[in-house]
Amino acid sequence: MTPSPETWTAESIGAAIRDGGLHASDVCESYLDRIRRLDPKLNAFVTVLESGARMQAESVDRDRKAGKPLHPLAGVPVALKDNLCARGVETTCSSKILRNFIPPYDATVIERLRAAGSVFPGKTNLDEFAMGSSTENSGLFPTRNPHDPGRVPGGSSGGSAASVAADFAPLALGSDTGGSIRQPASFCGLVGLKPTYGRVSRYGLIAFASSLDQIGPFARTAMDAALLMDAITGPDPRDSTCLPEPAPKFADGLREPFRPVRIGMPREYFAEGLAKPVAGAIDRLKDVLVSLGCSVVDVSLPHTPYAVPTYYLVATAEASSNLARYDGVRYGLRIDSADLVQQYFLTRARGFGAEVKRRIMLGTYALSSGYYDAYYLKAMKVRRLIYNDFMEAFRGVDLLLTPTAPTTAFKFGEKVSDPLQMYLSDIYTISANLAGLPAVSFPCGFENHLPIGAQMIGPALSELRMLRILHEYQKQTDWHARRPQNLS
Ligand code: GLN
Repeated sequence: MTPSPETWTAESIGAAIRDGGLHASDVCESYLDRIRRLDPKLNAFVTVLESGARMQAESVDRDRKAGKPLHPLAGVPVALKDNLCARGVETTCSSKILRNFIPPYDATVIERLRAAGSVFPGKTNLDEFAMGSSTENSGLFPTRNPHDPGRVPGGSSGGSAASVAADFAPLALGSDTGGSIRQPASFCGLVGLKPTYGRVSRYGLIAFASSLDQIGPFARTAMDAALLMDAITGPDPRDSTCLPEPAPKFADGLREPFRPVRIGMPREYFAEGLAKPVAGAIDRLKDVLVSLGCSVVDVSLPHTPYAVPTYYLVATAEASSNLARYDGVRYGLRIDSADLVQQYFLTRARGFGAEVKRRIMLGTYALSSGYYDAYYLKAMKVRRLIYNDFMEAFRGVDLLLTPTAPTTAFKFGEKVSDPLQMYLSDIYTISANLAGLPAVSFPCGFENHLPIGAQMIGPALSELRMLRILHEYQKQTDWHARRPQNLS
């Protein structure tokens, strides 16, 4: 194969390394070279791990020479969102409060990828502590969308999405609390999968909202996402929320014969606020699915209008509790003061950005005595109603099809000064987190030069079913193969 990241997939790189057509070191150099040339225009990475990546690649080449069996992802670069702890590597969450924090251990997903022989080109930028939808809330710098540097890549996993869209790596890991994998996948023209709550171990993921957070893959193809899922799923005694059942074999499952399914389109997701080109692209996608033998019907998720307010109570309440640990004593930044309480105040005032402070205040308020019943408890009850809507819908259909976001990628500055507008850009992604369900975003069209994303939401543990359909869809269409036009 030619040394050209723009034509590679994780699947093709892995296969070529195993059969000797490519050296892992050459693959690594091609990607590092592209990162050096193009990342200064995009700022996808917080840290580039040149020497570490080289060492990982060389070790794969040595293993191959020694005749050792290689994992399908051996030598395949995977970019890592910078809220995943990697041993010995600065892990910032794109927050000033964690600058210089070097974890002494690997997140389970990272440990598993190391064991598979994957190569880590770097840690990617995010909205500070994963709070945001554009990467403009990063405490370090914003990331640009490879399809249009005047626009946001989405968030909070904007750096991971941009790094795959720009071919800095064929795969990346992100985390999704309310849409942070799927919305940037939609804005950057990628497959982005939020697995079922409990499907992937979160040991070593820096917590934002623990009842919602999940780690998942960014890829171009369903097969590449399946390969990454194969590497990261499975029980983990170090995360008590991780399911004890073994995960299915995702890549093998994609090779099984295709069986058409029944698909529901929730009418609440196709109402006011949805941009016409997005609605049009989903309509054409629906026709392709029908041509594959699927049936498509209307369904209703009546509590959808309450999803955003419910999420912003639950997520902020959990965040206010999780972020209490950043006190300047144990991690990262410390603003010294002779008075301990003063030291906490100064450290947190300087270390956290505006959006993180806003969430801590909202969450603390929702949990405070006197308001707990009216806000937090009420939100928990509505969360159950949202879950019940899905269960009712899945009595009649196998999967739901929706837009991922109301629009294509927006411009820098368009929403950042109005938090409410920003919160509304997650209107279609948040419910799956509240209900703990798996959901995948994938490209289904373009408007001008900007990708349009569609989302499938399925019952718990239906990731394979969704990826199998996506694999079939990608055989019929080529939206997933389109690269950014003017990136060189
Ligand atoms: N955009 C949503 C928020 O700001 C979701 C973030 C996420 O999934 N991490 O909370």
